Amino acid sequence: MIGEKTARGVFGETGVEYAENYPLKGKCTYGTGGNADYAFFPKTAEEVVGLTETLKKCGEPYFFLGAGSNVLVSDEGYRGAVVFTEKLKGVSYSGKLATVRAGERLNSFIDDALMNSLGGIEFLSGIPASVGGAVAMNAGCFGKNVGDYVSYVVSTDGIYTAENCGFGYRTSVFKETGVGIISVCFDLDNVEYEQSEGKIAKYRALRRSKVPKGRSCGSVFKNDGYFAGKVIESAGLKGFSIGGARVSDKHANFIIADDSATSGDVYRLISEIKKRTLEKCGVKLREEVEYIGSFDCGNVDKL
Ligand SMILES: Cc1cc2nc3c(=O)[nH]c(=O)nc-3n(C[C@H](O)[C@H](O)[C@H](O)COP(=O)(O)OP(=O)(O)OC[C@H]3O[C@@H](n4cnc5c(N)ncnc54)[C@H](O)[C@@H]3O)c2cc1C
Repeated sequence: MIGEKTARGVFGETGVEYAENYPLKGKCTYGTGGNADYAFFPKTAEEVVGLTETLKKCGEPYFFLGAGSNVLVSDEGYRGAVVFTEKLKGVSYSGKLATVRAGERLNSFIDDALMNSLGGIEFLSGIPASVGGAVAMNAGCFGKNVGDYVSYVVSTDGIYTAENCGFGYRTSVFKETGVGIISVCFDLDNVEYEQSEGKIAKYRALRRSKVPKGRSCGSVFKNDGYFAGKVIESAGLKGFSIGGARVSDKHANFIIADDSATSGDVYRLISEIKKRTLEKCGVKLREEVEYIGSFDCGNVDKL
C-alpha cells in the first residue's frame, strides 16, 4: 500500500493532482458509494504512464474511472487509488482518423467529429460515457459497437491495434486486465453534415423515449442470448424494490436509485433478481455493471 507518506511522495514525484479519502459518489451515475483512499487526476499521457508505474511499484491497487456510468461503488468505498481520466482532454484529426484523449465525453466527441464532417459513430449518441470507458466496455447499441471504429489505442502498456484490443460483447483487453487507455485513434466515415446531424438527433430522441429517467448504470445485466429485461419482467419483478433501489417500470433491465438509495440497496436488489430469475425462468443473469470495492457477498474487489 502507498501509505500517507508515500502517497505524498507519489504526488511530489509525478506532479499529478492528487487527493486523499476522496468521495466517489459524485463521480458515478448511481450517485452512491463511499470514498477511495486516493484519487489522481493526470492531465497528460506522461503523467498517466509515470503514475501507473509508481502505483505498480508501490503495490497499490488502482483502476481507471471515466464517467462512472457502468459502476456500483461499495458503501465502504475503495481501498486503493482511482485514476480519474476527466482531465485527459483533446481531439485531433488527420483525414478520417480522429485521435481522442480518454477523458473526452463520447457525446462531445460525436458532436466535434460532426463539425469535421466525420461520423459513423452516431449510433452511440446519448450514452453518458467517457471515450476511454466506452472503448474499455466496447459500448454499443442498435447492433453496433464502438470497437468497430477503433484503429488503435494508446495505453499505459503501449499501442494496441484494433485486432489486439480483444473486443467482445461489452468487454475488451483493457477491461479484463485493467490496462489504462490514454487515447484512442478512431477511423471514421466521411459524412454529409445534415444527414449525420439528423441521425444524431434521431438516436438521442430514441434514447430519451426508451431510457428510464433517474440515476442508473444503464443495463444492469448482459443481454447474452436473451433480453435480460424480458426475463426480469417475466419473473414479475418490474417495480420490485429494496430500500431506495427499484426495478424500473419502463425497462426492467434498469435499476433506478432514489435519493435515499445506498449501493447496498442496489446490490441486494441485483442479488434478489438473480435468485428469482434463476428459480422462475431458469436463466442465470450476468452483470454488465461492475462492482468497485467490497460487497456483503465477500470481497468482490475488481483488482
Ligand atoms: C442512462 C445510461 C444509458 C446507457 N446506455 C448504454 C448503451 O446503450 N450501451 C452501452 O454499451 N452502455 C450503456 N450504458 C453503460 C455505460 O455508459 C457504458 O458501459 C460506458 O461505456 C461506460 O463508460 P464510462 O466512461 O462511464 O466508464 P466507467 O463507468 O467509468 O468505467 C467502466 C469500466 O471501464 C474502465 N475504464 C474507464 N476508463 C478507462 C480507461 N481510460 N482505461 C481503461 N479502462 C477504463 C473502468 O475501469 C471500468 O472497468 C449506459 C449507462 C447509463 C447510465
